[in-house]
Amino acid sequence: MFDLDVRTLFIVSISVTLVLGFLLLFTWHQNRQIRALGWWSASHFVMCAGCALLGARGYVSDTLSIDISSALILLACGLSWGGARLFDERVAPISGVLAGPILLMFASQLPLLSESINARIMFSSAIIAVYVIGTGCEIWRGRTQEPLTSRWPLSVTFFVHGAIYALRVWLVFAFPVESSTAFYSVAWFSIIGLESLLFLIIASFMILAMAKERSELVHKTNAMLDPLTNIPNRRAFLDAAMRRMRQRARNPEPVTALLFDLDHFKSINDRFGHSVGDEVLRIFTARAAAEFRSTDIMGRLGGEEFGALLFGAAESTAVSTAERIRRALMVATAEIDGKHVDATVSVGVAVLPADSVEDVAELLSRADNALYLAKERGRNRVEVAGRTPALAGPPIEEARAAVATISSLRVSPPSVPQLPAANEDDIAWVEPQPLRVSGK
Ligand code: GH3
Ligand code: MG
Ligand code: MG
Repeated sequence: MFDLDVRTLFIVSISVTLVLGFLLLFTWHQNRQIRALGWWSASHFVMCAGCALLGARGYVSDTLSIDISSALILLACGLSWGGARLFDERVAPISGVLAGPILLMFASQLPLLSESINARIMFSSAIIAVYVIGTGCEIWRGRTQEPLTSRWPLSVTFFVHGAIYALRVWLVFAFPVESSTAFYSVAWFSIIGLESLLFLIIASFMILAMAKERSELVHKTNAMLDPLTNIPNRRAFLDAAMRRMRQRARNPEPVTALLFDLDHFKSINDRFGHSVGDEVLRIFTARAAAEFRSTDIMGRLGGEEFGALLFGAAESTAVSTAERIRRALMVATAEIDGKHVDATVSVGVAVLPADSVEDVAELLSRADNALYLAKERGRNRVEVAGRTPALAGPPIEEARAAVATISSLRVSPPSVPQLPAANEDDIAWVEPQPLRVSGK
């Protein structure tokens, strides 16, 4: 049916497996943190040795070409399974890796297996199927913690190959091999050999693709995260904010911007050292993150400035969140390494009601004005921007007319009232001040 020369197939398989083994070794050398690549490469080399001995049947002793070769092939499968576990930082137990080959070596001593080549092939095929399907499951399992696209085709490749080896158990049963030297001549042997070669090529390239995908994801994540506090940096924060604001345009909901600026931070660095300053930044991030919900966005905008957008939260909720963060920072920094650091933070809040429109820059700019006011009014306090933005959906002509009227007026800004020093329990408001208009 299939006119494949089995020995040629062996030589091709061994050469290809060797090349793929070196390719994985090289990739591991470039990505040393992905230890699984080392295991998968070792699995290829062990598979080469196993296949070479199997193919040398008739030229080397039966112990080498039957017992040792099968044990090596099972060891290669065990290493591949262990590699898949290591890829997702799970432990790769040596007992699990060696269980297959050891089981086969013991079982081979039993008359059932030592006297029947068919029983041996069935037994080792079943163990290979378990290892291969197990490897597919391990790769599949990791998708929730690291959703790499290449996990899908790779695990499917392992499942299909495992299913074919399970089928081999049945094939041996249906079309038994007549003698230990004649099994090369069975038609299904060369077909399964060819399938194994294709599997090895596909799986190796998918593994390389998966490793590449992981390192790209790591680089991308690192480029978006602030290394000191491990939260999104300015760019990532603004990207996420704009994305969420676009979604908000379809499903209107209130959104509140909070801008935080640590007070007299330069003085903290000067008095206690840069490392204590860094620790204050980390403490602030942890305390603030603990107060936000998973739907909120937070980022480090630069130096000792942080921003957050709270979606769906009422103004009172946003203000009390800011208050809790302000107090938590004071408590957490009352003493750091035996030093009374007493860091404080000023917060500017700007609220955008569900029926209003404004872009991220405008919203943050209003929060920045409120923050400026908080600094001016004594620091360590929360201020809310008073100006309410334009309501969504007024007729455009109406809006234009309003702009024209306002720009024709000469407006003198109201003077900022001097308030008493910040009381910890105060939530300060900047009430909208009536504009004093002089002339028309
Ligand atoms: P204000 O209350 O007006 O905000 O005063 P400030 O001292 O906090 O503001 P200023 O902008 O004068 O100083 C900010 C300081 O933050 C200066 C800079 O050295 C420090 N800083 C910025 N980034 C870091 C950092 O990553 N680690 C540490 N330790 N300090 C930083
Ligand atoms: Mg600042
Ligand atoms: Mg500051």
